[in-house]
Amino acid sequence: MKKLLPTSTAGSLPKPSWLAEPEKLWSPWKLAGDELAAAKRDALLLTLKEQEVAGIDIISDGEQTRQHFVTTFIEHLDGVDFEKRETVRIRDRYDASVPTVIGEVARSKPVFVEAAKFLRQHTQQPIKWALPGPMTMIDTLYDAHYQSREKLAWEFAKILNQEAKELEAAGVDIIQFDEPAFNVFFDDVNDWGIATLERAIEGLKCETAVHICYGYGIKANTDWKKTLGSEWRQYEEFFPKLQQSTIDLISLECHNSHVPMDLLELIRGKKVMVGAIDVATNVIETPEEVAATLRKAMQFVDAENLYPCTNCGMAPLSREVANAKLRALSAGAAIVRNEL
Ligand SMILES: [Zn+2]
Repeated sequence: MKKLLPTSTAGSLPKPSWLAEPEKLWSPWKLAGDELAAAKRDALLLTLKEQEVAGIDIISDGEQTRQHFVTTFIEHLDGVDFEKRETVRIRDRYDASVPTVIGEVARSKPVFVEAAKFLRQHTQQPIKWALPGPMTMIDTLYDAHYQSREKLAWEFAKILNQEAKELEAAGVDIIQFDEPAFNVFFDDVNDWGIATLERAIEGLKCETAVHICYGYGIKANTDWKKTLGSEWRQYEEFFPKLQQSTIDLISLECHNSHVPMDLLELIRGKKVMVGAIDVATNVIETPEEVAATLRKAMQFVDAENLYPCTNCGMAPLSREVANAKLRALSAGAAIVRNEL
């Protein structure tokens, strides 16, 4: 029988200090060339082991082979000039210097497929691999070629589909698309955001997920959250359409969040990765706190559809804190599993 309440993480995990400077986003690599390639494989083994020891059921790569969840994927594509930079407003929230789309975008070679094969060779557990979603990709670029957010999103969806099919062939069980931009551009999400996501998963037989969150615990995000009021109802804007979509799993921020849990009613029937770990604090959740969040979610998510998870990635945290949080997640899920 399939294990109930399988645990997983939203995506990134801390990197070891010999690979990149810890507790930092966009942290530069400490090695180069063949040494870096070997170090990334070692880090994959380490994160795999740490997840298994913490009792995580669905293993992720912890983003050990990438500097950033969006940028690294784009770096491997044609048509984007990383030297030519423009300042744009990301997710309507903060300014950043980003690369420029200067011609047709294309994927001339696989990006993460080798790393996925390597992870697959080393564990019997199901594995989940995250890719950026089309809308979040275009939100991290200046487009001087297509001059249309929607057009560029469709192009990226095609490219993501190529990568996703090869990840599936490499033995990945769940392919996840990270779409924090879904919480900001509601009209676009409904007009073409979900449609481009469905294009990205076209023809896949493995399970597919979308991760929608309120971001890492960085200052720009925590400041933004303060402006959202006491109830965060952003999910409400596009859940009805997402419920109708072909995406299997939806990964959401639910713990220490002002998201009213009853919004989950709008996606009833979907599998939900319920974020029960706050990534914006070093305070370690108790297993009982995790269990309480999961029980609340179970009012709206059937047990067989509930996947205990973290709110978002944990790259900016220390390894000690992240590992303790993973153990709390497993222990909390075990409490509720025993009650079922
Ligand atoms: Zn996230």
